[in-house]
Amino acid sequence: MGGFPTTIGEAIEWLSAYGGEADGGVTRTLYSKPWQEAQHALKEWMEQLGLAVKFDAIGNLFGRLVARDAHAPTILIGSHVDTVKSGGKYDGAYGVLAAILAIDQLNQKDGQPDVNLEVVSFCEEEGSRFPLACWGSGMITGVYSFQNIVGVNDSDGITFADAMTQAGFGTTHPAEVRRKDIDTFLELHIEQGPSLEKQGKSIGVVQTIVGQKRYRIMIKGESNHAGTTMMKWRRDPLHGAVSMIEALYEMAKEFDEDLVTTVGQVSVEPNVPNVIPSQVVFTVDVRHPTESVLVSFCEGISRRFREISTQRELDYEMELWHEVAPVQMDRNLNEVIQTICTNHHLPYQLMNSGAGHDAQLFAPICPTTIVFVPSQAGISHSPLEFTSSKDLEAGLCVLTELVKQLAYKKQGGVVL
Ligand SMILES: [Zn+2]
Repeated sequence: MGGFPTTIGEAIEWLSAYGGEADGGVTRTLYSKPWQEAQHALKEWMEQLGLAVKFDAIGNLFGRLVARDAHAPTILIGSHVDTVKSGGKYDGAYGVLAAILAIDQLNQKDGQPDVNLEVVSFCEEEGSRFPLACWGSGMITGVYSFQNIVGVNDSDGITFADAMTQAGFGTTHPAEVRRKDIDTFLELHIEQGPSLEKQGKSIGVVQTIVGQKRYRIMIKGESNHAGTTMMKWRRDPLHGAVSMIEALYEMAKEFDEDLVTTVGQVSVEPNVPNVIPSQVVFTVDVRHPTESVLVSFCEGISRRFREISTQRELDYEMELWHEVAPVQMDRNLNEVIQTICTNHHLPYQLMNSGAGHDAQLFAPICPTTIVFVPSQAGISHSPLEFTSSKDLEAGLCVLTELVKQLAYKKQGGVVL
């Protein structure tokens, strides 16, 4: 086998050598050297397995098992090869490697499929080098264009365009990246949370990828001397921010069990120990699977924040800077997956994804779903990220069986 992996456990270890670090973590950011090596290694492996392999103009990698009738529909299966800085071996990589193994297994046992089966290793999902997440799937689905990278630099000041060119991409016409021939998209991914492990389940069938709203809250007060300004005379924006954050978390707890909210970034001006601050800016991230719930919660916090700022005589602004609507996964595909789990005695759970994934870009275009396997202790984006071989195999089994049912009519499968 020329040193290429044969099991999913081997494949995870094999790919993690590209960008692998001493502590078991992996850093493989977009267009970096380890990223290039990983994509080229995947290309060689898929060529060796007999797939028709090609890169597109931005570095997405495809490996195609052509159908008996080349005009047949195409099922795209995969995930992303990039990682966050000091991430784990499983996030993204698992979905790419499992897609290759599933298609190869079907090719060997059942031969040429009735639909085109295509692996994708998206060039980028994490937004960890450049502030642009899902670059690979966003370009394939036409959500992004080359306009989106204008003026975008990494933390070393390297432009997105230069990084892409140095990796050998970005020179052909960007319109070639858009794919209009995808009829179904499937993704296998680690959960990145503790739900499946806590419930003792092997498989998560994702119903909805949650919607998100992110705000920037800016509060202005009056900077003054910490020793000479009596408490009753103060217009302290940090005191206001503390009350707002407390109110936010109390409201979230009472609102809905599936609602999560996070204040992850706070900046204080002038940030000096003996000066009452002049200005505080903090972020609010809110997520829920139902848009109407998200909207009514955000209206509620906006009202409450305004009340607090009025009481404290503070100037207040709340700016929405990022939002994503909740995305439904395909019900029919999910029903097939549940039947497969039952038949294979794999305990499963219907769930929502609190994290964003490439699958959400495809859902508006074609039947799409994402399947999760457990993450030990719910840890992800860390060298400690771990999924047991048993769970990796369970996910691969479900994916293989699903693709078999969708792609081989002679198996009595589902015809697309
Ligand atoms: Zn991922």
